[in-house]
Amino acid sequence: MESISSADLKKHLYIIASDEMEGRETGSEGQKRAGKYMISEYKKMGVSHPNTIESFYQTVPQEYLGARRGKTYPESENILTFIEGTEKPHEIIVLSAHYDHVGKNKAGEIFNGADDDGSGTVALMEIAEAFQLAKKAGKAPKRSVLFLHVTAEEIGLVGSKYYVENPVFPLANTVANLNIDMIGRSDPENKGKNYVYVIGSDKLSTSLKKINEASNAATVNLELNYKYDDPNDPEMLYYRSDHYNFAKNNVPAAFYFDGIHEDYHRPTDTPDKIDYELLKKRTQLVFATAWELANREERIVVDVKSSR
Ligand SMILES: [Zn+2]
Repeated sequence: MESISSADLKKHLYIIASDEMEGRETGSEGQKRAGKYMISEYKKMGVSHPNTIESFYQTVPQEYLGARRGKTYPESENILTFIEGTEKPHEIIVLSAHYDHVGKNKAGEIFNGADDDGSGTVALMEIAEAFQLAKKAGKAPKRSVLFLHVTAEEIGLVGSKYYVENPVFPLANTVANLNIDMIGRSDPENKGKNYVYVIGSDKLSTSLKKINEASNAATVNLELNYKYDDPNDPEMLYYRSDHYNFAKNNVPAAFYFDGIHEDYHRPTDTPDKIDYELLKKRTQLVFATAWELANREERIVVDVKSSR
């Protein structure tokens, strides 16, 4: 877990959220460039794609993306990397974060999307590295871990929907999904606090929330804020990021989030505004929770009736 450093997160994020990536709009050259960077970093770590597919890419066809928000989008790719478990390789923990963002506006201003969701993108890369280092040290996880960098989140959670309809490992063997979408900033009501919002962790399995809490207590000790678990919350965040496509399919999921801040979906969501220490702690929490999910004796069970 010590390999997850604020310096590495910063180095990756300044590239993922650079102007060169042109706001990573679904199917754009800029998004593909960001994807190539991610893959080159995975190759450096020695982390490959799942053996069930031919490359790091799962192509989401243009016809599937369809016309959304008054626009048509070219084909685009989910990017998948994988660390195979030793004892229960067929049981999969999915860690997800979207690497698309909203591109540019009519005036040509770039929406860098450093927090949304550059932060989740680089967190996944660092978590993968930590698992890979453990594996190299002879401590590979018992279960397998799939790192799912999804496309087309911003146009309606489309990349994750495509994945759950075309999973590369059966959803029945998918133990849990931890989804990261914005973990590098603070919202106005939590400025200065070591916190993170955790959303949906008790909706399908009573153990997921407990495991996340125990992992947190044993490591970074963040304040876990469950405000958005309130079904009457007007933001309805449980339905607004990629974990929901897993939850809909009865896969227990938790969504890690920093709140809605002043630069949300603005050209000012830039990497200089990220709190890298806090990003590191939140990334370490997701790693610790994933580690426990991958290594505990029994897989977590779905013991709460879905109320969708
Ligand atoms: Zn997002």
